[in-house]
Amino acid sequence: MLSMTCYDLHSHSNVSDGSLSPTNLVKRAVDKGVDVLALTDHDGTEGIALAANAAKEMPLDLVSGVEISVSWGSNTVHILGLRIDPQQLELQQGLKTIRDYRVGRAEEIARRLQKAGIEGALEGASIYASKVMLGRLHFAKFLVNAGHAKDINDVFKRFMVRNKPGYVPGQWASLENAVSWIIQAGGQAVIAHPARYKMTATKLRRLLTEFKELGGVGIEVISGRQHPEEIKRLASLANDFELFASCGSDFHSPDNTWVELGRLNSMPNSVTPIWFSWRS
Ligand code: AMP
Ligand code: MN
Ligand code: MN
Ligand code: MN
Repeated sequence: MLSMTCYDLHSHSNVSDGSLSPTNLVKRAVDKGVDVLALTDHDGTEGIALAANAAKEMPLDLVSGVEISVSWGSNTVHILGLRIDPQQLELQQGLKTIRDYRVGRAEEIARRLQKAGIEGALEGASIYASKVMLGRLHFAKFLVNAGHAKDINDVFKRFMVRNKPGYVPGQWASLENAVSWIIQAGGQAVIAHPARYKMTATKLRRLLTEFKELGGVGIEVISGRQHPEEIKRLASLANDFELFASCGSDFHSPDNTWVELGRLNSMPNSVTPIWFSWRS
């Protein structure tokens, strides 16, 4: 029997908030049966060269990717760039502005945690982070380790979310800029994990309308942990908006046993997988 190609088009290394190096991420992907892996670190592409180099010696195709943090009204949404040229100037300048913002934001998170009686959060979180970016998951690891929360899940219920200590409303890139950087870098813009945004159906459709007008071409129909009904809903959105369907685990760490590289639901037959557009 012909076995199907396994695509995992959303993953993180320790260049952003994943726990494996780009090299070890690629190794693990091969172990888990992934044939095509996109490395999509938050707001940075520094891991791509290492991952691509590791992939050269292995039976795996590496897709250059990035996951860009975007503010859309009062919402934070994530836009994946797939098959980008990581060297492209406008993209790199854009990502740099986001990472610069992250520095001040991390200081503000720490100040707010301090007001809630938690000392040393900035230094504590930095231990878990690369030089490239500091994010909430690094703070979460610090908070668990310092005994302020029982696990990562607990952190994101009690800290750094709306109305909780350490919350800082994000001021990320505009949707327009993020999509345009991706296009300028020769890539395809894909809306990441749409079901995770706490948006009404109407609002999500408005997001997809704008995204499409700006030149976005894809939507993540399959994500790491998902209900079957969600897949159906996202598949019909993909078709309604004539967007390619993408799939990715959003793998961050072997510690999270719920999410694994290559462990994904299959793509519904009704949609057009984004890799159909890659055939030359
Ligand atoms: P940031 O971009 O710094 O705001 O951090 C966002 C990251 O935090 C996401 O990419 C996830 O890695 C992590 N995160 C957010 N919410 C949760 C959650 N409920 N459980 C686990 N990780 C989360
Ligand atoms: Mn993350
Ligand atoms: Mn995301
Ligand atoms: Mn992600």
